[in-house]
This record gives sequence, C-alpha cells and structure tokens, in this order.
Amino acid sequence: MTTKPLPDSLSLEQFNQAIGELREILGPERVYTDDVNELRSYRDVYSTTADKLHLPSAAIAPESVEEIQKVLVVARKYVIPLWTISTGKNLAYGGAAPRKSGYIVLDLKRMNRIIEVNEKYGYAVVEPGVSYFDLYNYLQERNSKLWIDPAAPGWGSVLGNMSEHGAGYTPYGDHLLMNCGMQVVLADGTVVDTGMGSSAESNTANLYKYGHGPWVEGLFTQSNVGIITKIGIWLMPEPPGYRPYMVTFPKEEDLFQLTEIAGPLRLNMLIPNAATIVGLIWEASATTTKNQYYQGKGAMPMSARQKMADDLKIGMWNFYGALYGPPPMMDNNWKILEEAFRSIPGAKFYFEGDRPGDPAFDYRAKLMRGVPSMTEFGIMNWVGSGAHIDFAPRSPVTGEDAMHQFTMIRDRANEYGFDYIGEFLIGFRELLDVFMLVFDRTDEEEMVRAHECFGKLIDDHTAAGYGEYRTHLDFMDKVAGTYDWNDGALWKLHHRIKDTLDPDGILSPGKQGIWPKRMRQG
Ligand code: ADP
Repeated sequence: MTTKPLPDSLSLEQFNQAIGELREILGPERVYTDDVNELRSYRDVYSTTADKLHLPSAAIAPESVEEIQKVLVVARKYVIPLWTISTGKNLAYGGAAPRKSGYIVLDLKRMNRIIEVNEKYGYAVVEPGVSYFDLYNYLQERNSKLWIDPAAPGWGSVLGNMSEHGAGYTPYGDHLLMNCGMQVVLADGTVVDTGMGSSAESNTANLYKYGHGPWVEGLFTQSNVGIITKIGIWLMPEPPGYRPYMVTFPKEEDLFQLTEIAGPLRLNMLIPNAATIVGLIWEASATTTKNQYYQGKGAMPMSARQKMADDLKIGMWNFYGALYGPPPMMDNNWKILEEAFRSIPGAKFYFEGDRPGDPAFDYRAKLMRGVPSMTEFGIMNWVGSGAHIDFAPRSPVTGEDAMHQFTMIRDRANEYGFDYIGEFLIGFRELLDVFMLVFDRTDEEEMVRAHECFGKLIDDHTAAGYGEYRTHLDFMDKVAGTYDWNDGALWKLHHRIKDTLDPDGILSPGKQGIWPKRMRQG
C-alpha cells in the first residue's frame, strides 16, 4: 500500500482541511492531489536518488497575486511548505519536484501574461509562466525587431531561468544582469515592487535597475524569501548583420590554447556573445548515439571517439561564436578572430551554409540569435533512458583552469564509467563549465554510481578552489557547505534573513541549502 506524502507534522485530516480551504480559493480544478494522475509531472525524472525523496503532497496553480496572498494565509495557518516554480522545467537541477516530500508545489504556470513589450527601449515585462517560446512567438507575431536570449531548451520560463542565474548564448546571455524591475510577494503577503518601480509614478521601472537605497533583487533569486510574480527583462535589438561561425579543434589539449585566445577576445568584446566551447560528445549527440560507435561498458575509449569525430567532421572541441553588427565591422572583426584561431594547428572554420544538414550547427546558429528550440534534448538519447544532472563550476578564463577542470571531471567521470559530456561558456569574466552527467535511470546500480560520482566532483572542485553556481536538489546542502568562509558567515546571514522574512518557514524550505529555523539542525 502506498501512503500519501504529507507535509511534516500534518495529519491526513489537517492536510485535507487545508486542501479544502485551498479549493475554496482556487476552485477544485486548480488544486491537484492525485499522486498518480495529477502529480506525476511534479516528480523529478532525472534525480540520482529515489523518487520518494521528492514527492509533492499536492500542487496548486494560482492565477493572480491576490490568489497567492490568500494561499499564503492557508500555508501559514497550517505551516505547509510551498515549493514555488514557474514552468518547472528546471531539469538536471530538480525539475518541478520539491526539495522534500510532502511540500505543496506552488505552480505559477497559469500566471503567463506578457504584460508589456517596449520596442523603443528594448525590454519586456513578463509573469512567471511565460516561456521562451511564448515570448519569442509573441514578438514574431508582431514583427518585433527585438531578440530574446533563450536558455538552451526553449520551454522554460524567462523569469524562472533568470531567478536561477541561468545563461544564454547571445550578447545578452547573463540573464540576471538583464533583469530590470521585479515584483515579489513576501511570506506575509506583502507585495513589493523593487527599484524605480517602487516610485508610484515611475517611468524608468524597467530602464534603470537600482532605484534609491539597497538593491534587493538578488535576495529573491536562487532563494526562498519571496515569490517573484513579475520581472522586466532587457531584449537585444536585432543587429544589422549576424554571422554565426564554428571552429573545430582536433586535440583535447587544444582547449588550453583555445581558452587563452578566446578569453581576451571576449574581454575586449571582439567576441560579444557567450561563445561556447563544446566538447566532442555534446556536439555529436545532436546527430548520433553512443551505441553507433561503442557497445562496450563504461566510458567511450579514445579510438571510438576519434572515429566519431572523423565521421562527423567535428573536433574534440568545437568553438561556436557569432559576429553581430554592420557588415564592414563584422569583416574587420573576423580578420582578427580568424588569425587568432588559425594559430592553433588543425583549426577548421565553418560559416552558415558550410555544414548543410548538420543539426548541431543549425541549433547553435539559432541559439546565438535568440531562436528557442528543444534540440539540446538529443543528448538524452546518447545512452538509453538517459537522465542527467548537471555539474556547473565556475573558473577564471584561462587555459590552465579550463584544462584543470576538464581533466578533473573527465577522469572522475571515466573512473565511474561515465562519458565526459561538457561545454564551456565564456562569460564576461568567468568560464561557465557545464558537465552533463548522463546516466540510465532504469539501472539502479548506475544511479548510485552517478550520485557518488557527483559528490566526488564537488569535493574535487572545492579542494581546487572552484565553486558551483547552481546544483540539483540533492546536492544543495553539500554545495552550500562549500561556501563556508569565516565560520559559514554567508549562510548564517542567509538564515537570519530567512528567519526575519519568513518566520513560519513556509517558502521553499531547503532551497539552495537555506532552511527555516524549525528545520535546521543545531
Ligand atoms: P524553468 O522552467 O525555467 O527551468 P522553474 O520554474 O523550474 O524554471 O524554476 C527554477 C527554480 O527557480 C525553481 O525550482 C525555484 O526554486 C525557482 N523559482 C522559479 N520561479 C520562481 C518564482 N516565481 N519565485 C521564486 N523562485 C522561483
């Protein structure tokens, strides 16, 4: 017999009472309690741990700020943890599932209005449920000359991704940086508009970020002290020209020189976008599967990888960047870039049209001009029943750091029988390393191995001075524990803020390793 997951310390009777009150607020059709039929989509199909650790007791879908305020009254009364999501596509980091079983998922997908698009000043104001596809289609239908900057899979929320400090691939790739203006509902129901928006007659709410006084937006991102209900996001005006390019490099060791070359070019904005160094398997997974080249156990050997690289005409590393601007400017910039990359023996150059029928190039070319897609999911076919959790450390943009991270991850992954599937994005000052730990979730032994491997990766990187910017639910406490300077002063501060703004501890307990007092040990 299965038992209903319930919020800690609530009897089934109290839970049913609370659900009754929520049904009065939202109507029965927006309160979901059926574990099998309705709550299946709030599970994390990619976790390395048992399903039962992250099962919601219910999910609710308010449509307005007023409804959220009423829901909060019930949550405070019964001390029910609410796990806020926007579109819940946060796969690899937990998806729509809550940190602990029994929470109620506060699903904001029905708050999906595009409130404003300002063509002249280049911004949009959106609610949580607006996906990249929604915003893109909206702009296309109106012949807008504004671009969006989607995360790799386009079905996620513009607001949700920004709130997780997500990244995209156009020059507007740092999503939190492009946020301007925010509305939050606090745990006690207070609605706050931040920055210039807090001045009633403001005409710069989405133009100037900082207002007057402390800048608080960051407090509500990767956090659990408020529910974000609206954000402004800057949109890039379509440039007069766009030329995506790809440069392939034949050897694993080329990563060193490639990073040394690309880093300063990015810093000086000759590479204006979050250019990407894509590893062999990540690149290949758009067109092939592991099985085609290797049927053995464990990580794919170099001989098979080399054959795959040769067949697909791709490199051990594949650099994607783009030129934006008037053609003469692009021509000039390209001369500098080409000369720089040519200094690496074996570098091969490709522009649009040079790789007809290559879905990987096509996908990157779209991504760097803000066209959302779902191509990235091809990686999941690399092994059968593929699930993944993502390891995402940050480092300086140097060849030494890139090689250090790459070899550390590759060797650890291979030791545990997993392939290295990684890419590096070059941010404004930092290298954003993403390693996809792809595993077969139908194989329990492999799940355990993946879990252990991930923990080791965190330990390795902490010892080497690299921190992770975001992690899966199961590893939030562990990663939070690595930010421990001065006797854990930062997390102590987070806990003081949490206790002040959410004394009942109802908002997303445990998010990013921040727990309310009643759930903290010690
Ligand atoms: P996406 O679908 O874009 O991946 P999600 O909706 O899954 O984004 O949100 C990712 C994470 O961000 C959630 O797990 C939650 O912790 C946080 N989050 C999402 N929406 C909000 C919000 N409106 N307010 C506060 N935190 C949020």
